[in-house]
Amino acid sequence: MINYKSYLISIFVSLAISIGLQMILPWPYGLIAALAFFALYPLIMRNRALQRMNGLGGGGSIGMGQGFRYSCLACNNRFKGSSCPRCGSKMKRAEF
Ligand SMILES: [Zn+2]
Repeated sequence: MINYKSYLISIFVSLAISIGLQMILPWPYGLIAALAFFALYPLIMRNRALQRMNGLGGGGSIGMGQGFRYSCLACNNRFKGSSCPRCGSKMKRAEF
């Protein structure tokens, strides 16, 4: 789901923010805020990633649930799946 590089970046970002919180807020509030942030940050990132995926797959009912819809390059038939059911061609274009 999340690749290694973005995972490292998110760790560094959350570390930097938690250090920043501890510098801004007096002890122990900074530590508590940092720990709360560490606990919540993966959830926030996952929600954002899900929202981004929804944004890409959105645009009405097309492509919801059953993946991409394709348009055949040979006969212009619209279909779902790996090959055109009308002419059997695998030449296709993704429709959004
Ligand atoms: Zn076709």
